[in-house]
Amino acid sequence: MGHLEVICGSMFSGKSEELIRRVRRAVIARRKVGVFKPSTDDRYSREAVASHNGMTIEAAVVPAEDPWSIWSWVNENPVEVVGIDEAQFFDATLAQVVDRLVQHRIRVIVAGLDMDFAGRPFGVMPHLMAVADEVTKLKAICARCGEPATFNQRLIDGKPAKLSDPVVLVGGGDRYEARCRRCFEAPL
Ligand code: ZN
Repeated sequence: MGHLEVICGSMFSGKSEELIRRVRRAVIARRKVGVFKPSTDDRYSREAVASHNGMTIEAAVVPAEDPWSIWSWVNENPVEVVGIDEAQFFDATLAQVVDRLVQHRIRVIVAGLDMDFAGRPFGVMPHLMAVADEVTKLKAICARCGEPATFNQRLIDGKPAKLSDPVVLVGGGDRYEARCRRCFEAPL
C-alpha cells in the first residue's frame, strides 16, 4: 500500500518548498520520482516546479483538465514517489488518480491551496485532505499585522476584490497577499 501526504495552506506559506524538500529527500534515497503540475499554472517555467525562494525541480506538466495523464505517465515511467504541485487547479478526477496511485503502492505528495480568495474550500483539495494519511497545513505571514496567516486576500488596484470581479483580469491589475483571519476582508 502507498501513502498520501497533503501539504496545504495559503499562498506564500512555503507549500512548494516543502514539496520540493520531500522530493529531494526521496531522490537522495534513490527513489524514482515523478513530479507534476497543471499546465494552467504558467507563472514560472513550464518544466520546473518553482517556489518563491527559487528552488526548482524538474516536473512534467499535465493539463489541469486531465489528471489521468498523470496515471498514463506513471504507467510508462514506473516511479515510487509522485509529487503533485498546485493541485487545486486539477479537476475532481485527481482524487481517483491519487487513489489509484496509492493503491499501486506509490507514495503520493500533494501540495495545494486549501482555500480560494473568498475563503472557500478550493476544488479537489478538501477531498484529498480528508482521505490523506497525513496533512500538513502551513501558514504564511499576514501582510497587514505579521501574525500567522491562513487566508488569501485578492486585491484589485489595491482594494479587496469582490466576488463578482472577473477571475482573470486582462493585463493583470490584481495581486494577492496572505492575511490572518482578523485582517482578511472577505469578498462580498
Ligand atoms: Zn493580520
